[in-house]
Amino acid sequence: DITTLRDFDDHELVLLARDADSGLTAVIAVHSTVAGPACGGTRMWAYATHEEAVIDALRLSRGMTYKNIMAGLPLGGGKSVIIGNARTDKSDALLRAFGRKVEALSGRYIAAEDVGTSPADMALVGQETRHVAGLTGGAGDPSPFTAFGVYHGIKATARELTGTADLKGLKIAVQGLGHVGQYLCQHLAAEGAQLIVADLDSDKVAEQIRLHGATAVDAGAIHAADCDIYAPCALGATVNARSIPEIRAKAIAGAANNQLSVPEMAAELARRGILYAPDYVINAGGIISVSAEVTGTFDHAAIMARSAAIGDTVSSIFARAKATGATTADVADMLAQEKLAALKAAGPAQ
Ligand code: NAD
Repeated sequence: DITTLRDFDDHELVLLARDADSGLTAVIAVHSTVAGPACGGTRMWAYATHEEAVIDALRLSRGMTYKNIMAGLPLGGGKSVIIGNARTDKSDALLRAFGRKVEALSGRYIAAEDVGTSPADMALVGQETRHVAGLTGGAGDPSPFTAFGVYHGIKATARELTGTADLKGLKIAVQGLGHVGQYLCQHLAAEGAQLIVADLDSDKVAEQIRLHGATAVDAGAIHAADCDIYAPCALGATVNARSIPEIRAKAIAGAANNQLSVPEMAAELARRGILYAPDYVINAGGIISVSAEVTGTFDHAAIMARSAAIGDTVSSIFARAKATGATTADVADMLAQEKLAALKAAGPAQ
Protein backbone atom coordinates (compact mmCIF):
# COMPACT_ATOMS: atom_id res chain seq x y z
CA ASP A 1 0.00 0.00 0.00
CA ILE A 2 0.98 3.66 -0.22
CA THR A 3 2.28 3.78 3.35
CA THR A 4 4.75 1.01 2.57
CA LEU A 5 5.74 2.66 -0.68
CA ARG A 6 6.64 5.87 1.17
CA ASP A 7 9.55 3.97 2.71
CA PHE A 8 10.98 3.87 -0.80
CA ASP A 9 10.74 7.52 -1.81
CA ASP A 10 14.48 7.70 -2.44
CA HIS A 11 14.12 5.90 -5.80
CA GLU A 12 14.82 7.69 -9.06
CA LEU A 13 12.42 5.71 -11.22
CA VAL A 14 10.07 2.75 -11.10
CA LEU A 15 8.63 1.35 -14.30
CA LEU A 16 5.76 -1.09 -14.63
CA ALA A 17 6.46 -2.69 -18.00
CA ARG A 18 3.83 -4.66 -19.87
CA ASP A 19 3.72 -6.38 -23.22
CA ALA A 20 0.35 -7.89 -24.00
CA ASP A 21 1.53 -10.06 -26.91
CA SER A 22 4.13 -11.98 -24.91
CA GLY A 23 2.35 -11.73 -21.55
CA LEU A 24 5.20 -9.77 -19.97
CA THR A 25 4.56 -7.92 -16.74
CA ALA A 26 7.74 -6.62 -15.17
CA VAL A 27 8.86 -3.97 -12.73
CA ILE A 28 12.13 -2.16 -13.33
CA ALA A 29 13.33 -0.14 -10.35
CA VAL A 30 16.18 2.32 -10.66
CA HIS A 31 17.16 3.33 -7.16
CA SER A 32 20.18 5.47 -7.98
CA THR A 33 22.39 6.37 -10.93
CA VAL A 34 24.57 8.70 -8.89
CA ALA A 35 27.62 6.41 -9.10
CA GLY A 36 26.86 5.13 -12.61
CA PRO A 37 24.24 3.16 -14.54
CA ALA A 38 21.93 1.21 -12.24
CA CYS A 39 23.03 -2.42 -12.41
CA GLY A 40 21.21 -5.33 -10.82
CA GLY A 41 19.76 -8.69 -11.70
CA THR A 42 16.48 -9.60 -13.33
CA ARG A 43 14.49 -11.89 -11.07
CA MET A 44 11.66 -14.02 -12.41
CA TRP A 45 9.27 -15.06 -9.68
CA ALA A 46 5.62 -15.96 -9.33
CA TYR A 47 4.72 -13.09 -7.01
CA ALA A 48 1.27 -13.42 -5.48
CA THR A 49 0.47 -9.76 -6.16
CA HIS A 50 1.86 -6.91 -8.24
CA GLU A 51 2.36 -4.99 -5.00
CA GLU A 52 4.67 -7.71 -3.71
CA ALA A 53 6.68 -7.54 -6.93
CA VAL A 54 6.98 -3.75 -6.79
CA ILE A 55 8.12 -3.82 -3.18
CA ASP A 56 10.68 -6.54 -3.92
CA ALA A 57 12.08 -4.52 -6.83
CA LEU A 58 12.24 -1.36 -4.71
CA ARG A 59 13.94 -3.15 -1.81
CA LEU A 60 16.40 -5.08 -3.95
CA SER A 61 17.35 -2.08 -6.10
CA ARG A 62 18.23 0.01 -3.06
CA GLY A 63 20.26 -2.95 -1.82
CA MET A 64 22.16 -2.93 -5.12
CA THR A 65 23.01 0.77 -4.74
CA TYR A 66 24.44 0.08 -1.30
CA LYS A 67 26.28 -3.03 -2.45
CA ASN A 68 27.84 -1.36 -5.49
CA ILE A 69 28.89 1.75 -3.67
CA MET A 70 30.41 -0.19 -0.76
CA ALA A 71 32.45 -2.16 -3.30
CA GLY A 72 33.66 1.14 -4.77
CA LEU A 73 32.15 0.41 -8.18
CA PRO A 74 31.11 2.95 -10.83
CA LEU A 75 27.59 1.52 -10.84
CA GLY A 76 24.32 2.63 -9.38
CA GLY A 77 21.60 0.35 -8.06
CA GLY A 78 18.69 -1.16 -9.90
CA LYS A 79 16.74 -4.36 -10.04
CA SER A 80 13.99 -5.77 -12.17
CA VAL A 81 11.44 -8.46 -11.56
CA ILE A 82 9.43 -10.33 -14.15
CA ILE A 83 6.18 -11.56 -12.68
CA GLY A 84 5.66 -15.20 -13.55
CA ASN A 85 6.77 -18.76 -13.03
CA ALA A 86 10.30 -19.14 -14.38
CA ARG A 87 9.64 -22.74 -15.40
CA THR A 88 6.28 -22.39 -17.09
CA ASP A 89 5.76 -18.73 -18.07
CA LYS A 90 9.10 -17.94 -19.69
CA SER A 91 9.34 -17.64 -23.46
CA ASP A 92 11.75 -16.16 -25.98
CA ALA A 93 9.13 -13.55 -26.87
CA LEU A 94 8.71 -12.55 -23.23
CA LEU A 95 12.45 -12.16 -22.67
CA ARG A 96 12.85 -10.15 -25.84
CA ALA A 97 9.93 -7.93 -24.88
CA PHE A 98 11.66 -7.37 -21.55
CA GLY A 99 14.84 -6.47 -23.46
CA ARG A 100 12.95 -3.78 -25.37
CA LYS A 101 11.74 -2.27 -22.07
CA VAL A 102 15.33 -2.19 -20.81
CA GLU A 103 16.43 -0.60 -24.08
CA ALA A 104 13.78 2.09 -23.65
CA LEU A 105 15.63 3.23 -20.52
CA SER A 106 18.68 4.06 -22.67
CA GLY A 107 21.24 2.55 -20.34
CA ARG A 108 19.98 3.93 -17.06
CA TYR A 109 19.42 0.30 -16.07
CA ILE A 110 21.64 -2.68 -16.89
CA ALA A 111 20.03 -6.10 -16.53
CA ALA A 112 21.84 -9.27 -15.39
CA GLU A 113 20.88 -12.80 -14.47
CA ASP A 114 19.35 -13.51 -11.09
CA VAL A 115 17.03 -16.01 -9.41
CA GLY A 116 14.86 -17.48 -12.18
CA THR A 117 16.97 -16.23 -15.10
CA SER A 118 20.09 -17.65 -16.77
CA PRO A 119 22.92 -16.43 -19.01
CA ALA A 120 20.97 -17.92 -21.94
CA ASP A 121 17.95 -15.79 -20.98
CA MET A 122 20.17 -12.72 -20.81
CA ALA A 123 21.42 -13.52 -24.30
CA LEU A 124 17.80 -13.26 -25.52
CA VAL A 125 17.34 -9.98 -23.65
CA GLY A 126 20.58 -8.91 -25.29
CA GLN A 127 19.07 -9.32 -28.74
CA GLU A 128 17.02 -6.23 -27.98
CA THR A 129 19.39 -4.15 -25.88
CA ARG A 130 23.10 -3.64 -25.22
CA HIS A 131 22.29 -2.88 -21.60
CA VAL A 132 22.69 -6.36 -20.23
CA ALA A 133 25.56 -8.06 -18.39
CA GLY A 134 26.50 -11.60 -17.47
CA LEU A 135 26.32 -13.05 -20.97
CA THR A 136 28.22 -16.21 -21.75
CA GLY A 137 31.60 -15.16 -23.08
CA GLY A 138 31.64 -12.15 -20.75
CA ALA A 139 33.35 -12.12 -17.40
CA GLY A 140 32.27 -15.72 -16.83
CA ASP A 141 31.41 -17.33 -13.51
CA PRO A 142 31.62 -14.70 -10.76
CA SER A 143 31.73 -17.32 -7.98
CA PRO A 144 35.54 -17.56 -7.61
CA PHE A 145 35.68 -13.80 -7.03
CA THR A 146 32.76 -13.94 -4.62
CA ALA A 147 34.51 -16.71 -2.70
CA PHE A 148 37.81 -14.80 -2.62
CA GLY A 149 36.06 -11.72 -1.23
CA VAL A 150 34.23 -13.79 1.39
CA TYR A 151 37.53 -15.43 2.35
CA HIS A 152 39.06 -11.98 3.00
CA GLY A 153 35.94 -10.94 4.89
CA ILE A 154 36.33 -14.03 7.05
CA LYS A 155 39.97 -13.13 7.73
CA ALA A 156 38.88 -9.65 8.82
CA THR A 157 36.27 -11.28 11.05
CA ALA A 158 38.90 -13.61 12.54
CA ARG A 159 41.12 -10.60 13.29
CA GLU A 160 38.27 -8.94 15.13
CA LEU A 161 37.65 -12.11 17.16
CA THR A 162 41.21 -13.22 17.91
CA GLY A 163 43.51 -10.33 17.08
CA THR A 164 44.99 -12.13 14.07
CA ALA A 165 43.70 -12.75 10.56
CA ASP A 166 45.40 -16.15 10.53
CA LEU A 167 42.74 -18.84 10.12
CA LYS A 168 44.95 -21.75 11.22
CA GLY A 169 43.02 -23.95 13.63
CA LEU A 170 39.83 -21.86 13.48
CA LYS A 171 36.67 -23.90 13.13
CA ILE A 172 34.56 -22.60 10.27
CA ALA A 173 31.13 -23.99 9.42
CA VAL A 174 30.30 -23.67 5.72
CA GLN A 175 26.61 -24.09 4.89
CA GLY A 176 26.22 -24.88 1.19
CA LEU A 177 28.98 -26.25 -1.03
CA GLY A 178 27.81 -24.84 -4.36
CA HIS A 179 29.66 -22.54 -6.69
CA VAL A 180 30.83 -20.19 -3.96
CA GLY A 181 31.06 -22.65 -1.05
CA GLN A 182 33.46 -24.98 -2.86
CA TYR A 183 35.94 -22.24 -3.74
CA LEU A 184 35.61 -20.80 -0.27
CA CYS A 185 36.48 -24.15 1.34
CA GLN A 186 39.62 -24.31 -0.80
CA HIS A 187 40.88 -20.96 0.52
CA LEU A 188 39.98 -21.74 4.12
CA ALA A 189 41.55 -25.20 4.07
CA ALA A 190 44.71 -23.89 2.41
CA GLU A 191 45.18 -21.67 5.43
CA GLY A 192 44.67 -24.47 7.93
CA ALA A 193 41.11 -23.77 9.03
CA GLN A 194 39.12 -26.76 10.29
CA LEU A 195 36.08 -27.12 8.04
CA ILE A 196 32.65 -28.21 9.18
CA VAL A 197 30.35 -28.56 6.17
CA ALA A 198 26.80 -29.33 5.12
CA ASP A 199 24.93 -29.55 1.85
CA LEU A 200 21.74 -31.27 0.71
CA ASP A 201 23.87 -32.94 -1.96
CA SER A 202 25.87 -35.72 -0.28
CA ASP A 203 28.37 -35.90 -3.17
CA LYS A 204 29.44 -32.32 -2.51
CA VAL A 205 29.90 -33.13 1.18
CA ALA A 206 31.92 -36.26 0.37
CA GLU A 207 34.19 -34.20 -1.86
CA GLN A 208 35.04 -31.78 0.97
CA ILE A 209 35.77 -34.67 3.31
CA ARG A 210 38.08 -36.19 0.70
CA LEU A 211 39.80 -32.95 -0.32
CA HIS A 212 40.13 -31.20 3.02
CA GLY A 213 39.28 -33.64 5.78
CA ALA A 214 36.14 -31.65 6.54
CA THR A 215 33.71 -32.75 9.24
CA ALA A 216 30.17 -33.26 7.90
CA VAL A 217 27.08 -32.30 9.85
CA ASP A 218 23.39 -32.50 9.06
CA ALA A 219 22.11 -29.73 6.78
CA GLY A 220 19.49 -28.88 9.39
CA ALA A 221 22.10 -28.41 12.12
CA ILE A 222 25.00 -26.60 10.46
CA HIS A 223 23.96 -23.20 11.86
CA ALA A 224 24.27 -24.70 15.34
CA ALA A 225 27.70 -26.28 14.79
CA ASP A 226 30.35 -25.87 17.47
CA CYS A 227 32.58 -23.44 15.56
CA ASP A 228 34.20 -20.01 15.59
CA ILE A 229 32.65 -18.67 12.40
CA TYR A 230 29.43 -19.67 10.67
CA ALA A 231 29.52 -19.03 6.90
CA PRO A 232 26.04 -19.19 5.29
CA CYS A 233 26.63 -19.97 1.59
CA ALA A 234 23.32 -21.56 0.60
CA LEU A 235 19.99 -19.82 1.00
CA GLY A 236 18.91 -16.52 2.49
CA ALA A 237 17.15 -16.00 5.84
CA THR A 238 19.08 -18.70 7.70
CA VAL A 239 19.69 -16.16 10.48
CA ASN A 240 16.26 -15.90 12.02
CA ALA A 241 14.45 -15.89 15.36
CA ARG A 242 14.50 -19.67 15.47
CA SER A 243 18.14 -20.23 14.47
CA ILE A 244 19.84 -17.45 16.43
CA PRO A 245 19.40 -19.01 19.90
CA GLU A 246 21.08 -22.16 18.53
CA ILE A 247 24.07 -20.42 16.91
CA ARG A 248 27.25 -21.22 18.81
CA ALA A 249 29.62 -19.40 16.48
CA LYS A 250 31.15 -16.15 17.67
CA ALA A 251 30.65 -14.62 14.24
CA ILE A 252 28.67 -14.95 10.99
CA ALA A 253 30.46 -14.26 7.72
CA GLY A 254 29.36 -15.89 4.49
CA ALA A 255 28.27 -15.47 0.89
CA ALA A 256 24.51 -15.92 0.98
CA ASN A 257 22.31 -12.98 0.03
CA ASN A 258 19.79 -11.69 2.57
CA GLN A 259 21.09 -13.79 5.46
CA LEU A 260 18.94 -12.01 8.04
CA SER A 261 15.26 -13.03 7.84
CA VAL A 262 14.33 -9.47 8.84
CA PRO A 263 16.59 -6.45 9.53
CA GLU A 264 15.80 -6.63 13.28
CA MET A 265 17.89 -9.82 13.51
CA ALA A 266 21.02 -7.65 13.39
CA ALA A 267 20.20 -6.21 16.80
CA GLU A 268 19.43 -9.67 18.16
CA LEU A 269 22.87 -10.89 17.04
CA ALA A 270 24.55 -7.86 18.59
CA ARG A 271 22.67 -8.44 21.85
CA ARG A 272 24.04 -11.98 21.98
CA GLY A 273 27.56 -10.84 21.13
CA ILE A 274 27.59 -12.58 17.74
CA LEU A 275 29.60 -10.52 15.25
CA TYR A 276 27.95 -10.16 11.84
CA ALA A 277 29.78 -9.31 8.61
CA PRO A 278 27.03 -7.65 6.51
CA ASP A 279 26.17 -9.96 3.61
CA TYR A 280 26.06 -7.45 0.81
CA VAL A 281 29.49 -6.12 1.73
CA ILE A 282 31.26 -9.46 2.12
CA ASN A 283 29.71 -11.09 -0.99
CA ALA A 284 30.46 -8.26 -3.44
CA GLY A 285 33.25 -10.10 -5.32
CA GLY A 286 30.75 -11.30 -7.92
CA ILE A 287 29.41 -7.84 -8.70
CA ILE A 288 32.99 -6.57 -8.84
CA SER A 289 33.66 -8.99 -11.69
CA VAL A 290 30.35 -8.18 -13.41
CA SER A 291 31.19 -4.49 -13.13
CA ALA A 292 34.49 -5.08 -14.89
CA GLU A 293 32.54 -6.69 -17.71
CA VAL A 294 30.07 -3.82 -17.91
CA THR A 295 32.77 -1.17 -17.97
CA GLY A 296 34.92 -3.18 -20.37
CA THR A 297 37.88 -3.29 -17.98
CA PHE A 298 38.13 -6.99 -17.20
CA ASP A 299 41.49 -7.57 -15.54
CA HIS A 300 41.75 -10.68 -13.38
CA ALA A 301 44.42 -9.36 -11.01
CA ALA A 302 42.60 -6.07 -10.48
CA ILE A 303 39.34 -7.86 -9.69
CA MET A 304 41.11 -10.15 -7.22
CA ALA A 305 42.72 -7.13 -5.54
CA ARG A 306 39.39 -5.34 -5.27
CA SER A 307 37.73 -8.48 -3.89
CA ALA A 308 40.51 -8.84 -1.32
CA ALA A 309 39.91 -5.23 -0.26
CA ILE A 310 36.49 -6.34 0.99
CA GLY A 311 38.41 -7.43 4.10
CA ASP A 312 39.37 -3.81 4.85
CA THR A 313 35.79 -2.65 4.37
CA VAL A 314 34.53 -5.33 6.76
CA SER A 315 37.17 -4.27 9.34
CA SER A 316 36.13 -0.63 9.07
CA ILE A 317 32.50 -1.60 9.63
CA PHE A 318 33.44 -3.56 12.76
CA ALA A 319 35.47 -0.62 14.07
CA ARG A 320 32.65 1.87 13.58
CA ALA A 321 30.06 -0.46 15.08
CA LYS A 322 32.26 -0.84 18.14
CA ALA A 323 32.79 2.92 18.40
CA THR A 324 29.14 3.89 17.95
CA GLY A 325 27.19 0.97 19.39
CA ALA A 326 25.23 0.64 16.12
CA THR A 327 24.80 -2.80 14.58
CA THR A 328 27.22 -3.77 11.82
CA ALA A 329 24.28 -3.96 9.40
CA ASP A 330 23.23 -0.39 10.22
CA VAL A 331 26.83 0.82 9.96
CA ALA A 332 27.11 -0.68 6.46
CA ASP A 333 23.92 1.10 5.36
CA MET A 334 25.09 4.36 6.94
CA LEU A 335 28.48 4.16 5.22
CA ALA A 336 26.76 3.48 1.91
CA GLN A 337 24.43 6.47 2.38
CA GLU A 338 27.38 8.69 3.29
CA LYS A 339 29.35 7.61 0.22
CA LEU A 340 26.28 8.24 -1.93
CA ALA A 341 25.76 11.71 -0.46
CA ALA A 342 29.44 12.55 -1.01
CA LEU A 343 29.24 11.44 -4.65
CA LYS A 344 26.04 13.40 -5.17
CA ALA A 345 27.68 16.51 -3.72
CA ALA A 346 30.66 16.03 -6.03
CA GLY A 347 28.45 16.21 -9.12
CA PRO A 348 26.98 13.88 -11.73
CA ALA A 349 28.66 10.55 -12.60
CA GLN A 350 30.86 10.47 -15.69
P1 NAD B 1 24.68 -22.65 -5.65
O1 NAD B 1 23.27 -22.88 -6.02
O2 NAD B 1 25.77 -23.01 -6.60
O3 NAD B 1 25.01 -23.40 -4.27
C1 NAD B 1 24.13 -23.47 -3.20
C2 NAD B 1 24.42 -24.78 -2.50
O4 NAD B 1 23.68 -24.81 -1.28
C3 NAD B 1 24.01 -26.02 -3.30
O5 NAD B 1 25.08 -26.94 -3.32
C4 NAD B 1 22.80 -26.55 -2.54
O6 NAD B 1 22.70 -27.96 -2.61
C5 NAD B 1 23.11 -26.09 -1.14
N1 NAD B 1 21.95 -25.99 -0.27
C6 NAD B 1 20.69 -25.60 -0.58
N2 NAD B 1 19.92 -25.63 0.51
C7 NAD B 1 20.70 -26.04 1.53
C8 NAD B 1 20.48 -26.27 2.90
N3 NAD B 1 19.28 -26.08 3.46
N4 NAD B 1 21.51 -26.68 3.66
C9 NAD B 1 22.73 -26.88 3.12
N5 NAD B 1 23.00 -26.68 1.82
C10 NAD B 1 22.00 -26.27 1.04
O7 NAD B 1 24.77 -21.08 -5.26
P2 NAD B 1 26.08 -20.19 -5.17
O8 NAD B 1 26.29 -19.50 -6.47
O9 NAD B 1 27.19 -20.95 -4.55
O10 NAD B 1 25.58 -19.07 -4.15
C11 NAD B 1 25.42 -19.35 -2.77
C12 NAD B 1 24.83 -18.14 -2.06
O11 NAD B 1 25.67 -17.01 -2.24
C13 NAD B 1 23.45 -17.70 -2.57
O12 NAD B 1 22.72 -17.18 -1.49
C14 NAD B 1 23.78 -16.61 -3.55
O13 NAD B 1 22.71 -15.71 -3.69
C15 NAD B 1 24.95 -15.96 -2.85
N6 NAD B 1 25.82 -15.22 -3.76
C16 NAD B 1 26.44 -15.87 -4.79
C17 NAD B 1 27.28 -15.15 -5.64
C18 NAD B 1 28.01 -15.83 -6.77
O14 NAD B 1 28.96 -15.24 -7.31
N7 NAD B 1 27.65 -17.04 -7.15
C19 NAD B 1 27.49 -13.77 -5.43
C20 NAD B 1 26.85 -13.15 -4.36
C21 NAD B 1 26.03 -13.88 -3.52
